[in-house]
This record gives sequence, C-alpha cells and structure tokens, in this order.
Amino acid sequence: MLAITRVAVIGAGAAGICASRFLAARHDIFDHVVYELSESIGGTWVYTDRTGKDEHGFNIHSSMYKYLCTNFPKELMGYPDTDFNPDLPSYVSHWDVKDYLDDYAQKYDVLDHVQFSTVVTKVVPVGNTANAKWEVTVRHLQTDVEEKHVYDAVFICNGHYSVPRMPDLPGADTFTGKILHSHSYREPSVFEGQTVVCLGAGPSGTDIGLEVATVASHVVLSHNNTPFVCPLPDNLEQLPGIEQLEGDTVVFIGGARRRADVVLFCTGYEYTYPFLSSACGVVVEEKTRVTPMFKHCINIQHPSMFLIGLPTNVVPLIIFHYQVLFALAVLEGTVKLPTKDQMLAEEEAELKKRFAIGWKKSYAHKVNADLLEEYLADLAKLGAVKPLPAVKSAIYRFSLEMIFTHLMSFKTFNYELIDDKNFKLVKAK
Ligand code: FAD
Repeated sequence: MLAITRVAVIGAGAAGICASRFLAARHDIFDHVVYELSESIGGTWVYTDRTGKDEHGFNIHSSMYKYLCTNFPKELMGYPDTDFNPDLPSYVSHWDVKDYLDDYAQKYDVLDHVQFSTVVTKVVPVGNTANAKWEVTVRHLQTDVEEKHVYDAVFICNGHYSVPRMPDLPGADTFTGKILHSHSYREPSVFEGQTVVCLGAGPSGTDIGLEVATVASHVVLSHNNTPFVCPLPDNLEQLPGIEQLEGDTVVFIGGARRRADVVLFCTGYEYTYPFLSSACGVVVEEKTRVTPMFKHCINIQHPSMFLIGLPTNVVPLIIFHYQVLFALAVLEGTVKLPTKDQMLAEEEAELKKRFAIGWKKSYAHKVNADLLEEYLADLAKLGAVKPLPAVKSAIYRFSLEMIFTHLMSFKTFNYELIDDKNFKLVKAK
C-alpha cells in the first residue's frame, strides 16, 4: 500500500481550486486541506465594493472592478478541459467567471476540502532540505484559535494581484489632487467631469482609462509602450510616462504638462509571501521575481513546495492546470527532477535569455504568446499531460493583436472553434 502524502493548499482562488481538484481526484494517495482566508472561493473574482481593510483588519484581497469584462475570450479564460457556458459571448463579466469557478469547485468536489475564514500565518520547513516536510500555522478567524499542522507538501496559491506596486514619483508629496492605485478602483462615476491621468497601459490601465473616459472631462493614458494607433475616445490622449508631479500639474517625460485632479496608478502588483519563513529558501527580488524556482513553479531549495501561478502576461487558468499536473507528477514520483545545481543553472540561463532580448528583471516570470507554447509543451511533456491544442495558442496570439488594433471594440467579437487548429471570428449579436 502507498503511503498517504499530506498536502496543504494556501488559497482557494482559481489556482488553489485547480490544485484541490486534482489532489481530490487522487485521494488514494493524497490527503489535502485548502486554507482560505475569506468566506468563498474565487479570490480575484469575488467582487466587493469595499476598499481598504476587511472586518478582520486584512487588506481587501480582490482588485476587481464593477464593470470588468474579461480581457481574454472565454475560449482562453477557462481551464483547458472545462468549458464556459456555451450560451455566453466570448468576453464575459467577472460575475460569469465567478459562476464558472463555483461550478468547477462543485463539479470536482473541491468545497469539502476548503477551510474558509482560515489564514495561513507561517510556513516553516521541518527536516532535511531534499525531502522537507512543512509546519503550517493557521488561525481560524471566527474563533481566533491557532493550530499547527505538518504536511509533506505545500501548494502556494495566494495570488499576486492584491498588493499594489506604487511608483516613487518625485513631487508626489506636493500633488494637490488624488493619488490612487487601480487596486482600489471600483467604478468610473466618481471621476465625472475630472481630469484623470492613468499611469500604465497594461490590461488595467487601458481598460480603466477607457471606462473613466466615458464620464471624465479628460483622460491621459501615460505610458512608454508603443502608442496605440487605433481609434480612441476623443477625450483620451496618450503621453509618455510621468516625470514628476508639481502642485496640481503632472509633468510627463519629454516636457508635456497637464493639470490633473487624479493620478491613477495602473502599475501592477507585487509578489508577497508574508507567511513564508526565511528557511523556506524563497526570496522575492525587486518585488517582481521569485527565486530560486524551477519551471516557474517549484522551489528549488525545497522541491516539495509548489508556487502555482507565478507567470505574468499569460492565460492564467490554463497555466494553473498544467503547473498543478506537473507538480503532482513530481510528488507522485513519475517525474524525476534534475539535480539542484542543474535546476539552478537552468533558471539562471533562462533569465540571461530574457535579459538578452531586452527584458527587465520584472519580466522574470513573463510567459507571453511567444513563450507560452514552449512552456506548456515542456510542462505537458514532463507531467505526461495532453499538450494545449494549437487552436488555443492561435486564438491567444490573435486576441492579443486585436487588443492593439481594436482597443475600443475587440470585446464585441466572438471566437468560434472550427477544429483543433482553426477558429473564426464573428461579430457578437
Ligand atoms: P487569487 O484569485 O488572488 O486567489 C488567491 C486566494 O488566496 C484568495 O482567495 C485569498 O483570499 C487567498 N489567500 C491569500 N493569502 C492567504 C493566506 N495567508 N491564507 C489563506 N488564504 C490566503 N485573468 C484572466 O485570465 N482574464 C482577465 O480578464 C483577468 N482580469 C483581471 C482583472 C483584474 C482587475 C485582476 C486583478 C486580475 C485579472 N486577471 C485576469 C488575473 C486573475 O487574477 C487570474 O485569472 C486568477 O484569478 C488568479 O488566481 P489565483 O488563484 O492565482 O489568485
């Protein structure tokens, strides 16, 4: 008889419920618990009007805003073997995503494994590094009771879209308007008639910039990327990044100046693991690179710790699925990891490749359309999982281009799958 492997999963967002699903499916060899700070599954997709702190004094986790419609079509939004409701259009609301995750958790018996209102406060390795066990300290928020449990493996699924990355702008202390981060943005009406500078043109910056432009008198989308050349609202202009703030004025790189009521930082989020003791061997460099990691998901110092969902610029749920199956293959022993030195060398070589194409350290976990196929094929091969059908990669590439060429209208199209390789784009009714 095989020994039972005890596993703790931290967080019941989309990554944690995926891990729980596959651990539950192998209950003959895995006994697992999911610890979730809040009262429901879904993490990011649990919308709340609240900002600031929750009733237990924790920072509000979700950065979701009221009218968010996904930036990827549902054909890419879901886990690779579980489709969204076919009656929905391709671009869906955050409510639809939450429903999808609820259905998934129900279908795969996840809920029985989740301890809600339970925060993980500390994770410490016990025993030798090659085969460490983990002492996990949790606090039950309703009773304030603290417990410690020992596990053979830990899946860290606490998300990385909650702690704002705030740029340090010269003159910020002199600015007479409001400075906010998109983490606390909920809906546009509060900006009616104002001049708003959105700093950053990633998915949040562009989406929020367009939303705010429906009510604001003027919006500046401030960024150093290639400017959008597609149609944009008449009251939205693009300017380079911010150089400094002076009283009621924003000074942009190159010298342009605009008076502004609000500067809204759409500058992304930090990776944080407040519960990991230093003995866990994982550090976060420049708030954006978690190291040392093998294949962006295994702690090289202690390979029974898995961090699910580190990659950025990705189709997240697809990545979670492949990372979880790879991690389980490692735990089950069907994949033999390279030596520690080999894994460290691979991580170093990969980072060097990224630097060579001009990427910064903050892109250490970027898996864009060019890297996605290779990354997933690699995980699929190691984990003996079916690779992603070519049609999904093709939609990914195409849908990213659509954002750039049709920023105001790309969500009005639907994707229809013809076969494993081909799709067609149709105007939504
Ligand atoms: P999360 O969803 O953040 O879940 C983490 C969970 O861990 C939470 O439930 C939290 O309460 C829990 N937790 C944290 N710390 C502890 C602790 N110490 N103890 C116990 N529990 C803990 N992706 C897309 O594919 N398409 C989109 O259109 C899209 N839009 C987005 C829009 C916004 C505004 C944001 C912020 C993100 C968006 N994303 C989108 C990315 C989205 O975050 C991922 O799709 C995915 O939901 C992340 O899942 P996760 O499980 O990694 O993290």
